[in-house]
Amino acid sequence: MGLILDLRTIFVTGALTCFIIGVMQLMTFATGRFTRSPVWWGASSLCIGTGLLCAAFRDSIPDVLSIEFANTAMLAGCLLLLFGIRHFAGRELHWFGFTITLLAVWILLSLSPGPQGYAARVLIVAVVMAFCDAAIVREAVRLGLQEKLRSAWLLAILFAPTVVIYGGRIVLAALDQVGTTLFPRDSGVNAWLAATGVTFIILRGQALLLLAAERSNRMLAALARRDPLTGAMNRSGIEQWLDGQMRGALHGGMTASILLVDIDHFKAVNDTHGHAAGDEILRVFAHAVRGQLRSGDILARQGGDEFAIILPNVGVREAVRVAERIRGVFKDALAQFKELPGPPTLSIGVAESDLRARSLDQLLAEADQALYRAKRLGRDRVQAQLKPLEA
Ligand code: GH3
Ligand code: MG
Repeated sequence: MGLILDLRTIFVTGALTCFIIGVMQLMTFATGRFTRSPVWWGASSLCIGTGLLCAAFRDSIPDVLSIEFANTAMLAGCLLLLFGIRHFAGRELHWFGFTITLLAVWILLSLSPGPQGYAARVLIVAVVMAFCDAAIVREAVRLGLQEKLRSAWLLAILFAPTVVIYGGRIVLAALDQVGTTLFPRDSGVNAWLAATGVTFIILRGQALLLLAAERSNRMLAALARRDPLTGAMNRSGIEQWLDGQMRGALHGGMTASILLVDIDHFKAVNDTHGHAAGDEILRVFAHAVRGQLRSGDILARQGGDEFAIILPNVGVREAVRVAERIRGVFKDALAQFKELPGPPTLSIGVAESDLRARSLDQLLAEADQALYRAKRLGRDRVQAQLKPLEA
């Protein structure tokens, strides 16, 4: 291959790339769309860029700048990246370890001067970089497993190869097989490795922003599915959930019991005690209900003081028992409000429904009729549908 890459030029290109990406990451934070993590990533990119630029001028500027400072800046960048990802994952940051590591790196580098110290310096740098990248892979895998963020897997894939490469560097440096200078006359393989490294810098920068975007998108979507007052699902949330259930239940039947709950004479609470007291009662209700549900059950606010509760794979008899329990815990929860002389009660309609091929309104229709009966019979009671589904 006739193409010859110049290693110094690649270092300078890498540095400029880092500066551009760093500014982009800082700008991303400035838009206010994400949390503070891109600040760390931006600082990391700027440090790595500074390190690369100083290293590019080795032999033209004092060694203390192109060796000790350059390598420490680069490693500070790697550690800051690790910190940024730990910050993103909500994990603890160890500033003491950060400072000690950089201090130790600086001292060890200055103890290994000149061409004869080159292998030792490569070893020091490769050890810290391998550690950083391995730790980043670990955090990325955790994010992929725990938060199910797809871009976290991309991040893990982008950081895993360098752990192996630095591992190789560690072995070669320990065997004193890395030469004696960063810019040898014939830099063939190293130049191509460095060029690949620049591509990695770009890909990693993009993957990090994707990670932040994916999480922020997911949070917005989750917010859009919830009622802010009670934290219960809203209509669009429950419709999405139903879609998912239908897709999952294509192969077999899937029944669920529906509880439609309406607070009795709720308007009177608002009228006598004010809207804020009404809001508080809605929150108390949602909290009390959540204490009675299993993990797959759904609480949704239909609007106003009406709520739907979906209990998958539960028959009407059991659902009526749950409904009675909910009436009980709501009554107990309201006992704390001494200023409510006749605290509001609940009317609940219960029906069993097939979750497949039903619109939300169809799904709720029978529970709605049962609720209507509960109201007509004098409120403060549970009524079940008259003809339960055949088994
Ligand atoms: P019923 O026993 O027939 O259900 O009588 P009700 O007074 O509860 O009547 P209805 O269910 O029709 O009234 C619901 C009331 O809920 C009307 C409205 O003022 C009130 N409301 C709706 N949304 C909110 C809310 O977000 N906060 C508060 N505080 N009140 C609300
Ligand atoms: Mg009501």
